[in-house]
Amino acid sequence: MRKAVIGLEIHVELKTKTKMFCDSLNDPDEKHSNINICPICLGHPGTLPVINKEAVNKVIMTGLALNCHIAEDTFFERKHYFYPDLPKGYQISQYQKPLCENGHLDIENKKIRITRIHLEEDAGRLYHPAGADYSLVDYNRAGVPLMELVTEPDFENGAEVRQFAEELQLIMRYLGVSDADMEKGQMRIEVNISLTKPNGEWGTKVEIKNLNSIKAAANSVDYEVTRQTELLEKGEEIKQETRGWDDTKGITISQRSKEEAQDYRYFPEPDLPPLHYDSDEVEAIKSRIPELPDQRRRRFSNQYTLPVSDVEIFTTDKELGNYFEDVASEILTFDKLKHLKMPPIGEQPKLFKLASNYLITELSRMAAAVFAGPKDTKITPEMFADLVVRVFHKEISSSAAQTVLKEMFETGKSPENIIKDKDLAQISDTVELESVVEKVIADNPKAVVDFKSGKTASLKFLVGMAMRESRGRANPQILEELIKSIIK
Ligand code: ADP
Ligand code: MG
Repeated sequence: MRKAVIGLEIHVELKTKTKMFCDSLNDPDEKHSNINICPICLGHPGTLPVINKEAVNKVIMTGLALNCHIAEDTFFERKHYFYPDLPKGYQISQYQKPLCENGHLDIENKKIRITRIHLEEDAGRLYHPAGADYSLVDYNRAGVPLMELVTEPDFENGAEVRQFAEELQLIMRYLGVSDADMEKGQMRIEVNISLTKPNGEWGTKVEIKNLNSIKAAANSVDYEVTRQTELLEKGEEIKQETRGWDDTKGITISQRSKEEAQDYRYFPEPDLPPLHYDSDEVEAIKSRIPELPDQRRRRFSNQYTLPVSDVEIFTTDKELGNYFEDVASEILTFDKLKHLKMPPIGEQPKLFKLASNYLITELSRMAAAVFAGPKDTKITPEMFADLVVRVFHKEISSSAAQTVLKEMFETGKSPENIIKDKDLAQISDTVELESVVEKVIADNPKAVVDFKSGKTASLKFLVGMAMRESRGRANPQILEELIKSIIK
């Protein structure tokens, strides 16, 4: 059996105030071309680069988060090639001595080894206007700090590539080193794929570029594994080449063959001093690493005993997770509703789960078009906790809670006022509910007969009718008990 051998090379634009070697702004959202430029990033002769410490710190922080060894002494090198978007004729990069080496990131049941992470500068951008016989170049991106991460070929399929890329993207967002938006080119993935020979040796690898989403990267891997398997089974050879990904057709296309390695004539950058970071400085960066996604997953499931799927949503959507935590802390200290007892400690997970449900399902569903995140809502964590505590104590029914939530979202009014204004308080008073139940029994003789002959669905029906009769305010458990006892 041939085994797929897959490795990744990932470029990430760092989020810094200024560019890698000059004080031009690093603004990925700049709409006007050639605004954030200066003689240094335009590569004018006689200019001198200066190292951006913020960028170096961010790469070291990433390396630490990915369990890498951090080099105390490194230096930059020139990588020479000619292209219109590279005005100097060389890219300042790292080659012999990357800032970070020998790390790993764990995905489900597997350790993916990280070979190296180094720091370099991005090139400008070329535009090819449709139908024109010229191209345009925008140097806003030229000289933007770019981090390159190379993995060992430890992947075997697209699903693993996807897991790794998603987790890496999340980690970079948690660290604040990059927004890592693939559509904006802030994160760019290249995959290398080969199949092992029958004797287990690695085969010729093919590189795939032009991947504009994590999904595309995963799909291209699976496509390419199949393509290479079919070729090898027909007795054909795999050419070493670079292929592009056609997202609409879902196929890879040959772009250029890579017969020989390009000679970049690397040599140490003479205009920059070597970089030295002693262990104290590295430790200081380490101490600034915030909670990482995996730590958060573990903490959320321990602290709030939420199911994995809820935890995952609060980890991926960090803002929503933070909002949930604010609500949870309000719940724990909630003493505004003097008439309601604080739930005992053992009951707290139920309140957390209730809060989580309303946050994930209800709020997102009813306000999908407008709810872009917690910043976007008039509902304070305290109001949310208030609602959850009332639902927990059955002061309002779950259908009334949806009305309250919707109204809170739209008006920012407190649950108390909404419940009063709309007369939503749940009726648990048996005497009051008895008259409702008696009416429903009188109006639905057939359902009563059916229930007596053992049809449990009829009980549900009668409860539903009684709920409607009470305009959704009756306590459904009490209704059910009353219906059973009155029919008997
Ligand atoms: P190159 O010099 O062509 O850039 P590298 O050795 O730097 O090659 O490796 C680039 C990427 O390709 C790494 O992610 C590495 O894990 C992966 N890789 C190396 N050899 C193979 C192979 N035979 N099959 C698949 N991936 C490979
Ligand atoms: Mg390489």
